[in-house]
Amino acid sequence: MNGSKGMLPPMHTVETLAEQLTALGLGAGDHVLMRASLRRLGMVEGGRAGALIGAALRVVGPAGTVAALAFRPMVPFPRRMKTADTGPYSSGGIANALAGWPGAALSAHPSCAWAAVGGGAAALVAGHDARSACFHPVGALLTLGGKLVNVGNVADSPGFSTVHHVQSELGLSRRNLLAGHIGLRTPSGAFASHDFPGCSKGFVKFYGAYVSAGVLRAGPVGDAYAIAAAASDLVAVERPIIAADPRFPLCDDPGCMHCRGLVTYNKRDWPAFWARWAWRKVRRR
Ligand SMILES: [Zn+2]
Repeated sequence: MNGSKGMLPPMHTVETLAEQLTALGLGAGDHVLMRASLRRLGMVEGGRAGALIGAALRVVGPAGTVAALAFRPMVPFPRRMKTADTGPYSSGGIANALAGWPGAALSAHPSCAWAAVGGGAAALVAGHDARSACFHPVGALLTLGGKLVNVGNVADSPGFSTVHHVQSELGLSRRNLLAGHIGLRTPSGAFASHDFPGCSKGFVKFYGAYVSAGVLRAGPVGDAYAIAAAASDLVAVERPIIAADPRFPLCDDPGCMHCRGLVTYNKRDWPAFWARWAWRKVRRR
């Protein structure tokens, strides 16, 4: 509340959002994976998803790329699913808006697809299908010298997708009781994923290391708090930390099935987690 009657909150536009993205370090020719909590943008002329994507495309220009995660949720034992998941993507309004953008490229991975628009879109989604790792396109983003930007999801869905890529490269995404047994039903049949990126709530723990390394840019985009960094800078910080301690990216929630009960590099938490889980099952009967 600003007190003055009739005063409207600031209305953001494609132009003002583009200025803010430029201040975050994005520029012409950049290839950018963008994640966003759109509701935190505030009032945006013409709609939040379209304006944010339009602003990012304006900043990176025709040679650059804007990409988003166009995910569908995976469930254990997908062969038991009765119907194919063909609804909207679960990874937010930006995924659905970008996937429907004119000229958008969409990778063929059944659950962890990327949507991309721009000069590097084809290179980003190339080879990302049912046989490749969920976060395979991060490798292409690194090759292209790309960047990542999180708009408003700094706490809601913390961290950067580069962590999942490093986990995959170190073989950690397969070290999970559900790997090979989790997926979804597609119109062409059941898909079971051999890697399971899993919980990312603990990725918040990397923020201090990014800041110490001086690789993070932060600032407002709309009303939202946003952070951005080069993919290669993020991986340079993350890789030695995860290689030294694979448990570092796990969250602290004692009830998190992924972090406490499924990953085989954290067996020390299994007895407490599964005892609690079994006790709850028994009590519910
Ligand atoms: Zn967790």
